[in-house]
Amino acid sequence: MAMVYCQRCGKEINEDLVFCPECGEILVEENAELQEFRAQGKVEEAKDRANMYIILAIVLATVGMVGGGLLLISSSLLGFFGIALVCLGIGCTAAGYRHEHKAGSLQKQLNR
Ligand SMILES: [Zn+2]
Repeated sequence: MAMVYCQRCGKEINEDLVFCPECGEILVEENAELQEFRAQGKVEEAKDRANMYIILAIVLATVGMVGGGLLLISSSLLGFFGIALVCLGIGCTAAGYRHEHKAGSLQKQLNR
């Protein structure tokens, strides 16, 4: 059984205890389970962001290519808006991969 030291009085106590038997200090403010739960939430958040950016990138690139292509045929100037949308899409893809990488590294920390 693991032992910890009371933050207030320094007495060695069983880590399963909620209060220090010596001075009554509360000992369960940051247990490992709670930290893991919070970290898991961050992983899910990063994954959600990654998916959102990738969907946005696909939409922007598709609209940019189709719309831009059609506009380039009819009016060459408006076609450049399509190119701008494709560039935005590429930027979103990069952001998506960054969030995916973050989710991956957080997951690795949790599995350690
Ligand atoms: Zn104590």
